[in-house]
Amino acid sequence: MFAKTTFPALFLINFFLASSPGAAFANVSEQRNGQFNQEYQRVSNVFTGLFAKLEKSKSGDEWDENYHQLQHFIGNPGAGKDSKVALCNQLKSLSPSELEYLGSIVDSGMAKDSLNSCRSELLGKIEYLGNQNRMAFAMEGESASIRPIRFEERLIDEHREVFSNQGFAEKEVMLTFDDGPRSKTTPIILDDLAKAGVKAAFFNTGASVVENKNVAKRILSEGHILGSHTYYHTLMMGREVNRDKMAYDQFLAEMISGHLTVSAAAGYIDPFFRFPNGCSNQNMARNVAELGLKNFRWSVDSQDWQFSRGTYDYRRTQILKTFVEALKTSHNRGIVLMHDIHQQTVDVLPLILNYLSDNGFKVVLLKPANRVLVPGQNLPVVSQGQSYLKEKGLSLADILPEKPKNNEKGEPVYDLRFKTRVDFLDMYPQLTYQQQGYAAKATCDDH
Ligand SMILES: [Zn+2]
Repeated sequence: MFAKTTFPALFLINFFLASSPGAAFANVSEQRNGQFNQEYQRVSNVFTGLFAKLEKSKSGDEWDENYHQLQHFIGNPGAGKDSKVALCNQLKSLSPSELEYLGSIVDSGMAKDSLNSCRSELLGKIEYLGNQNRMAFAMEGESASIRPIRFEERLIDEHREVFSNQGFAEKEVMLTFDDGPRSKTTPIILDDLAKAGVKAAFFNTGASVVENKNVAKRILSEGHILGSHTYYHTLMMGREVNRDKMAYDQFLAEMISGHLTVSAAAGYIDPFFRFPNGCSNQNMARNVAELGLKNFRWSVDSQDWQFSRGTYDYRRTQILKTFVEALKTSHNRGIVLMHDIHQQTVDVLPLILNYLSDNGFKVVLLKPANRVLVPGQNLPVVSQGQSYLKEKGLSLADILPEKPKNNEKGEPVYDLRFKTRVDFLDMYPQLTYQQQGYAAKATCDDH
């Protein structure tokens, strides 16, 4: 269990010595130390609270929300340098397994700036632990050999807007991976898929893809589908918009800039989109269709995110068990949800693939018609956005959503007056716009 840390006295003394050349400055130093101490305690309290909340999550939705809340806090702990120093101290005080639990956050583009001074040290610790785990497991003699699975590429039904388990026969599944790419995990997943002879769909976020462009390019070059999953993976957008907690422009910025960023980074993107948590309202879902994008949901939740604690063997066994149960509930067919950012997903994937192989499943890859992966041959949604930006002399940076801020409990707070330099209705006149206060029906509860 995570232990709340207290302010390290040694750090205070060092800080004092380093910053007080003479007695005349003592008061200034003391005041400065006081401010730091206060900020340290605030960051410590918020972090501890969010971590505890994450561990107490009772459902997939709750876990996902708490996890991303923690991610947003780690990405944005406060405005000043003190907040970042305090956050680094907090993370350094975690046990190795607690740290591995947060590995995908520490490694994400969201944390690049806020953890600037300690990120490589933290990642080094996580990697060391991971290697130890895998070595111990390999010594138990389990063969990691992946067996081939039947595979078929199939054109999507262009008339359908939302995809879940319709159109799949029994023992047909589509594999999908969200939230990446991540340089430490996605390439191993790609290797494993190649060994099984199957292809999958990857729903990348803008914030991750700018950090790992080459991985996104590899996804495409190996024949997988590349779609988008918003820019910052802002949570429960349908619910937050309906509660008037998030401006509709924030959602549009998340969706549009995410899609254009993945396309710019990888050189191409498929017209596939997935809402974070699958949470949208009717207007948002209509916007996806108006942009010519296909809205991908899922019917088999592997819950691979859930078992990131415990031993290597325990995690693999639990995820495989959950996956098999979810598959049965979905009548052994449909779209499987996994995440290519988690170490435990990498660890369990050979077992999942071999389960599919041994039980006569076929992996189906739904793909759009007229897929031409030639640079510059963009689909309408991308070329329309690109030419608009060019015409106005703007760049992608001008349409990014706001990085969510946090309140004293670490909960995200959005600026309801949020406006980018672009009027999205000018950029994409085909969009219908939801006015504030209009509560369109939201679906956020099918996670
Ligand atoms: Zn996601």
